[in-house]
Amino acid sequence: VGILGLGLIGGSLALDLSQLGYQVLGVSLQTTTCALACQRGAVRVASTDWQLLAGADLIFVCVPLDQTVPSVARLAEFLPEGVVISDVASVKADIVAHCSWPWFVGGHPMAGTAQQGMGAAVQGLFRDRPYVLTPTVMTDPEALISVQMAVQDLGAKLVLTDPVAHDRAVALVSHAPVFVSAALLLAGVQADTELLGLARQLASTGFADTTRIGGGNPELGLLMARHNRAQVLVSLAAYQTQLQKLHQAITEEDWAQVVQALQTSQRVRGEFSPLPPAPPPYPAGPRRAE
Ligand code: NAP
Repeated sequence: VGILGLGLIGGSLALDLSQLGYQVLGVSLQTTTCALACQRGAVRVASTDWQLLAGADLIFVCVPLDQTVPSVARLAEFLPEGVVISDVASVKADIVAHCSWPWFVGGHPMAGTAQQGMGAAVQGLFRDRPYVLTPTVMTDPEALISVQMAVQDLGAKLVLTDPVAHDRAVALVSHAPVFVSAALLLAGVQADTELLGLARQLASTGFADTTRIGGGNPELGLLMARHNRAQVLVSLAAYQTQLQKLHQAITEEDWAQVVQALQTSQRVRGEFSPLPPAPPPYPAGPRRAE
């Protein structure tokens, strides 16, 4: 198996696949990353030379989202026939439309941490987490089977869906929440200095839980907004509608309406799959230079 981009996701895939007995070939941008991947036993060989990947049967492209399509196109120029490529990017419709080859299978593991780079890669990151594959009518069934087998070996929960449905669903449960959470933080800092000082002192686990993803890496949020723009806007509009309804009910002191909304939200929360505890982070190792 080849891994292009030995960061959080690529490195974690490499660690698991090596542990499972796959011979993993890694390619990354920086020699320091390649050295760390070898040191951690994530790869059998690592290089900054893309030709190394010509020896793989299946390649996972794990570079930043906006580099996925150009990377797949560059691989297609020199890889021998029959090599299967899958990606891990968190937006699918645009990427799958640009990579409409029979040997390409769009993918997205629904797992991650707030960290980046090979130093942050962890074993078992994908275990029991959903791993989405988005085959199309163009996809070679054998290519799909080879990616499916690797995903199942990782212990992930395989989900097959079409790329647009994937983007709509992740907008709702992953992308829009980043902006909702960011808006809550931005609203908080608009308070006057005295109130803000007290609010900062009093903020506890509830505020920390609600704002965790709004305080994450701005580059990732920007990529979500740019590459899944239409679906993020649909989800944010639905959120605005619900917020407006709650605002109106509180304004009108319509407590029956308020309690009904909160009872519904309490009930439906359990319908979204609960997450297993995250694996512990790797303690040592240099961080990737940004
Ligand atoms: P990351 O930790 O920053 O890793 C990306 C790696 O790609 C970097 O370590 C970098 O390697 C390498 N890279 C960048 N440009 C390259 C190039 N031109 N050639 C070869 N390697 C290159 O990012 P990540 O979080 O793993 O994200 C990677 C992909 O996973 C993205 O498409 C993202 O949408 C998807 N994803 C992320 C998460 C998440 O929670 N983070 C979850 C699911 C899916 P060097 O260290 O050598 O510079």
